[in-house]
Amino acid sequence: MENEQEEGRYIRGACRFCGQMKIVPWSLTQEEADEKATEACDCDDAEWDRKLKERIRKAKEALNSVFGPGAADYGQKPVSERVMLFLQEAACLMAEGYVDNVQTDIPGTCRAKLADTGKGSIKIKRTETTVRSLES
Ligand SMILES: [Zn+2]
Repeated sequence: MENEQEEGRYIRGACRFCGQMKIVPWSLTQEEADEKATEACDCDDAEWDRKLKERIRKAKEALNSVFGPGAADYGQKPVSERVMLFLQEAACLMAEGYVDNVQTDIPGTCRAKLADTGKGSIKIKRTETTVRSLES
């Protein structure tokens, strides 16, 4: 019924992986339309991409909890914003399979370790490195 009127209110987006077209709202840019089409596509690569994004989302959540603002809940010092960006990037590289594990010392704060469990998740470990020594 309204098909003719509605025509033109939609644009086509193409899956980034297989090129399958989907109809999406016209208000989107072509780039957004392609992203929407990719999100909705059922090809293997799009499915893999969704899993990857979910993995990265979970890792960032865990990093925030262990090294970010969430650390204060455990009486621990949150790392600086730049160090957090570094840890997040490390988690992304790990989720994408470029690195297996990353370990770094954050002077005056802690030691951070990220490791690929090989089971689709990333293990995040924080070790406090505060040392107090007195001599008398
Ligand atoms: Zn696809």
